[in-house]
Amino acid sequence: MADHDPAHLETWRAEVRAWLASVASPKAEEVFEWGVGDPRLQIFLSMSHEEEVAYLDRVRDYRRHRFDAGYGAISLPEEFGGAGLPSVYSVAFADEEREYAVPPSSEIISVTTGLVGAAVSVFGTPEQRERFARAFLRTDLLCCQLFSEPGAGSDLAGLSTKAVRDGDDWVISGQKIWSSNAQFSEYGFLLARTNPDVVKQAGITAFLVPMDAEGVEIRPIRQMSGPSTFNEVFFDGARVPDALRIGDVDAGWKVAQATLGFERSSSGSGHRRKGGTAADLVALAQHLGLSGDPVTRQELADVYIRTSLHAAMVAKVARATASGDKPGPAGSLGKLVASDNLVRIGECASHLLGSALVADTGAWGEFAWSEHVLGAPGYRLAGGTDEIQRNIISERVLGLPAEHRADRAPFSQLAKS
Ligand SMILES: Cc1cc2nc3c(=O)[nH]c(=O)nc-3n(C[C@H](O)[C@H](O)[C@H](O)COP(=O)(O)OP(=O)(O)OC[C@H]3O[C@@H](n4cnc5c(N)ncnc54)[C@H](O)[C@@H]3O)c2cc1C
Repeated sequence: MADHDPAHLETWRAEVRAWLASVASPKAEEVFEWGVGDPRLQIFLSMSHEEEVAYLDRVRDYRRHRFDAGYGAISLPEEFGGAGLPSVYSVAFADEEREYAVPPSSEIISVTTGLVGAAVSVFGTPEQRERFARAFLRTDLLCCQLFSEPGAGSDLAGLSTKAVRDGDDWVISGQKIWSSNAQFSEYGFLLARTNPDVVKQAGITAFLVPMDAEGVEIRPIRQMSGPSTFNEVFFDGARVPDALRIGDVDAGWKVAQATLGFERSSSGSGHRRKGGTAADLVALAQHLGLSGDPVTRQELADVYIRTSLHAAMVAKVARATASGDKPGPAGSLGKLVASDNLVRIGECASHLLGSALVADTGAWGEFAWSEHVLGAPGYRLAGGTDEIQRNIISERVLGLPAEHRADRAPFSQLAKS
């Protein structure tokens, strides 16, 4: 097949470069100068509502051009609206795109295109694909993820938000939480309980919910680092037509599992940099005159080694994915190592800055380091907590005994804590 021919890939890469050059300039080499520009150390974006709308508009404009040029869903099969190319092409596109100054992606863009757009393409009816899949993949519509609840995060299948059938509609009641960027989304991808009398995974159904429907209330949550990236979403008898059900009734767990799987395999290039790096720490230590201090040097070397190892691990996974192999144990370690490194970088910055980290003197970069330190714990939770990642590694990689499961009874008979 021509797609697997290295010469075909090289020709395609050249086309990608030509297209990128027609819509963006090559990325200028970053020259770091202390005290100049945005220190870019925060882990979560910190913008006003208006600034974030303008930022998303810029990203969406680029994503529409990218989709129209045929690079919107490179590895999604053609029958689902993608280009149907092997994943090596997605990796190659990300490599090329990194060289150009395109608007960096954000959580809601990745969720809409990489997770929901792909899920609707695969599980949607022909009508739903026609109406939504293209609109999500092209970011004409944004869709947040309405999975987590106050009582169901790591244990997602324990969710309680109900959907009850009423004629051609479903009536939704309950609460979701930590819904990133729900305030900017036209739709939400909701998991709701439709049958409490079977084991918890078996009675869940997936829906698309218009976020402006009557009975849907979005309340932004102010984070300790300043911004309101995520929200609580309340459902008080909101009516959703059956035409917005994704997949079969009570088959939502399969949809959820596949959606979370797309997260790992989405082409998701152009991500903005998250948090400070080992190089930022060295610059800080030099600025403070601490780079000769033996304890500081030891901490900096530790962070440097760990971040270099993480980069090597990411490169190894990308190579494996590109050649169609399974990423192996490194694929399960990446998120855990990345979040651990961010915490260590924040700890090192705290030691260097001392009281200036909490009593901002207004000096360049100080508050940005405070934002980093306050954002790092969120990264340890989002997309599966460190402890859950460790459980996965212990069971699937190391082959240790699985956790005891005491929740095999129908959902309605499970004790609620
Ligand atoms: C920045 C951010 C963005 C997010 N965006 C979204 C979003 O857009 N949509 C969405 O639906 N959700 C989102 N989430 C929610 C995220 O998926 C959950 O926070 C996560 O799954 C953990 O669930 P929880 O917060 O309920 O913690 P819990 O599951 O209640 O866990 C509490 C603590 O117990 C530990 N724990 C739980 N179970 C086990 C176990 N079996 N073994 C060992 N330890 C365990 C956890 O590791 C954690 O330390 C986001 C979270 C964050 C931080």
